[in-house]
Amino acid sequence: MKPYTKSHSEGRATDLIIHYCPECNTCWEKARAWKWVGRTRRYINGYYFYKDFPTYGKKRVTCCKCEGKKLRQTLFLDMLLWEVVDDNKLQKTKGE
Ligand SMILES: [Zn+2]
Repeated sequence: MKPYTKSHSEGRATDLIIHYCPECNTCWEKARAWKWVGRTRRYINGYYFYKDFPTYGKKRVTCCKCEGKKLRQTLFLDMLLWEVVDDNKLQKTKGE
């Protein structure tokens, strides 16, 4: 089962599970985005953060920022995406 939107252009998908980080008091969600670089689809693994998002019923999970992960901000389709900066090779995405 794949919740991701099929698209021939740039796009993004989230896992639809929003967590709440009690350390920075922010809701966040894992996200995957892709864009075309020449003929290759480049995948971006990152996170979206939602300020002023209702926290009721959200699972409390420390976010990647508070875990000290290396991130860089990317503006992607008008949303701020926090891209995970991987010092090793970027993870290959399965199944696409
Ligand atoms: Zn946090």
